[in-house]
Amino acid sequence: MEVFAEVVGSAGYLEVVPPIFEHIEVFQRLGPATDVVRKEMYAFEDKGGRTIALRPEQTASVVRGFAEHRPAVPYKTWYAGPNFRYERAQKGRFRQFDQVGVEVLGPYDPHLDAETITLAWRFYERLGLRRVTLLVNSLGSAEDRGRYVDALRVHFEENRDALSEESRATLAANPMRVLDSKREADIELVDAAPLMLDHLSDDSAEHFTAVTEALDAVGVPYTVNPRLVRGLDYYVRTTFEFAADALDASQNAVGGGGRYDGLAAEMGAPETPGVGFALGVDRTLLACDAEGVFAAPASAVDVFVVDATDGTEAVVLTDRLRSAGLRVDRAWDGRSMKAQMRAADRSAAVLAVIIGEDERASGMATVRDLRGDGGQETVEIGQLTDILRARLR
Ligand code: AMP
Repeated sequence: MEVFAEVVGSAGYLEVVPPIFEHIEVFQRLGPATDVVRKEMYAFEDKGGRTIALRPEQTASVVRGFAEHRPAVPYKTWYAGPNFRYERAQKGRFRQFDQVGVEVLGPYDPHLDAETITLAWRFYERLGLRRVTLLVNSLGSAEDRGRYVDALRVHFEENRDALSEESRATLAANPMRVLDSKREADIELVDAAPLMLDHLSDDSAEHFTAVTEALDAVGVPYTVNPRLVRGLDYYVRTTFEFAADALDASQNAVGGGGRYDGLAAEMGAPETPGVGFALGVDRTLLACDAEGVFAAPASAVDVFVVDATDGTEAVVLTDRLRSAGLRVDRAWDGRSMKAQMRAADRSAAVLAVIIGEDERASGMATVRDLRGDGGQETVEIGQLTDILRARLR
């Protein structure tokens, strides 16, 4: 989270906190063929008889907020938080999962698409992930897409009998979603389907070229995948996805996004282009584990306070040392000195600060090394913070 905030903060994005639930209509504006809306939303009736849905994603709320408050453009925002989708839970796919993301409203400029993609890429880089692949595609404008969907429908309808039953059902709602099918029966027909990139208008083609040229210019590697369609119906033109090669192929999408130029108007704002992405935090962390990016922290604290008096020294000292920026814990329930030392060992702290009656009376503390040779020194309490800092360096 902090890394993400830093990366997007460096580009002038400001945090927004979308609500966890909204009127269901807000999400329905994402389009009837959007999977998360069609079949994955947790919806319920509240005491006032309103139909409410837990957010399955956050773009809808950000754009709804934009339409309501009409901030100046470019409106550059980021967010972090949980989403809820009614899915079959498995490794890397949860019913509650976290995303971080950005949304920008205002510019149509293809360099903005490249900026958002680049920021996501830099974020993965900053985490230390090395095996992430970026796939990009253009879905064309709404008109291009209309023509393309017609071509697709003709292609699949002509071969309807060969399609899987699921895909025949998807075909009625959105022929583009059939392209997502990984089912054996559909593979041949999907491979032979017409390509969106061959149906782009000049304007959309130029836009896409400008995006990829900007990515080339900043050195972000990508693969154009003309088959890339995403489960969210509202994307037009640029669409992209990040795949973590260290994860199983079925669950390796760690993030994705694209342009949604019609959504703001759909939410009641004047026609305003938009672009954004959402990255799955849970899956990104799984990818970090798979790549061995983070070493497990050796311990939760560096200092353990052992108070062999009446316990009040521990109350004050832990607070004082923490306020000085040290990571500090203590034992509870008035345990014996021996039991407290055992707790100190278990905590894997580097140093113990021991206060007995003698130390208390003389304003001193004993600092014991818990890892090295177990050596100890008795220091004045006023110098304790500096001494601990020096020993931990
Ligand atoms: P989407 O909002 O569907 O474009 O998803 C963006 C990213 O969120 C995906 O690439 C995943 O990393 C993550 N994601 C989506 N759905 C889930 C889920 N059910 N469990 C865990 N992560 C998810």
